[in-house]
Amino acid sequence: MAGERRAEIDGRRMKTIFDAINDFGRVTDMPGWNRPGLSDEDMAVRRWFAARMQGEGLRVSMDGAANVSGRLGPEGEPCVMLGSHLDTVPSGGAFDGALGVAVALECALAMRDAEVPLVHPVEVIATSEEEGRFGGMLGSQALAGLTTQEWLGTAADADGVRLADALASHNLDPAGVMASARPANSVRAFLELHVEQGPVLERASIPVGIADRVSGVVHLGVTLRGVANHSGTTPMDMRADAFAGLAEIATAIPGLIAGRGTDQSRITIGKVELSPNFPHTIPGEALFSIIVRDAESVAMDRLCDGLRDRIAAVAGRHGLAHEIVERSRIEPVMLDAGLADLLRKEAKALALPSMVMPSGAGHDAQTMQALAPAGLIFVPSRGGVSHAPDEWTDWDAAVAGARLMLAAAVRLACE
Ligand SMILES: [Zn+2]
Repeated sequence: MAGERRAEIDGRRMKTIFDAINDFGRVTDMPGWNRPGLSDEDMAVRRWFAARMQGEGLRVSMDGAANVSGRLGPEGEPCVMLGSHLDTVPSGGAFDGALGVAVALECALAMRDAEVPLVHPVEVIATSEEEGRFGGMLGSQALAGLTTQEWLGTAADADGVRLADALASHNLDPAGVMASARPANSVRAFLELHVEQGPVLERASIPVGIADRVSGVVHLGVTLRGVANHSGTTPMDMRADAFAGLAEIATAIPGLIAGRGTDQSRITIGKVELSPNFPHTIPGEALFSIIVRDAESVAMDRLCDGLRDRIAAVAGRHGLAHEIVERSRIEPVMLDAGLADLLRKEAKALALPSMVMPSGAGHDAQTMQALAPAGLIFVPSRGGVSHAPDEWTDWDAAVAGARLMLAAAVRLACE
């Protein structure tokens, strides 16, 4: 590429894209950013992003799953795809997803401005519904051909809104989602930049992480059934207290991980419903979720088996009936080793210290790995905070990560 200008990230332009994305989803009655997948705010930011890319001269389209893409360079396949998601969790932060979308567009604009001689098209993609409002990663699953008619017909959010109805409210439908699958070999590589959402990089003072794998997730739904009774008249040794059982299960988790888990094991009881849920009544029933994560499938099995044993033992001791349902399971995913290697080499060439690490959170990259080699770059999250309004990444770190993505993308798109 002798004689050509080197493509460079314009950190200020990238910031204006990032800020403009985050003009969407501010609502008066909730803190943070609120662009749940397929909400009005989410669709509004997609339309804005499509128009912005159009204004930059990219070839823009929105598919039947509400993924927005913009293409640069030659027509045809296979493309080098760069992107992340535009939706947020309720009361989420500004960086989760939005940063990766801003970085992807800035990388494309940097290549355009430097007239990089692209052999393959570069496609910027803003995926839809990554945060799992409907229990999946709708946009990337659609691209990778992983959605099923059955799931599209039955999925609903926590408020009971059906996915099919949410799609219909934006003139979309399950058939259009199914039709959004990309053909095999149409994507040469998928690269995503994302905030780490954990404390590892910050603690190690390393500016970029390169994820080599993504943890799997098992969602268990547990019911403990005892006897609701008067809190004053029922002796302590004659109770079947569902909450007492739940508490014992919760305190057993660290020991279970120490005995059967790995350093990547995470077990969380995140949602609890007690009934009757009244101060003067012994809880007769506890319904709760247990989320088990690990980077190894066999470790997830060991932990789930251990939980089943522990729950049965605790239920027996407290005189409780128990039921455990596996609500969903996502297997751990190994990302593409060749892309991780490329990212490591490019980081070295940029004199950017990097570390290879697993991802504890789910990302579009893991879904896209089913379609194409996928790579995932992490930048530090201040205090490890994410899915909260005070999510923060220093802009210098965001730009450093973007420079790494650009270097890798140029190499992939020009060879
Ligand atoms: Zn995300």
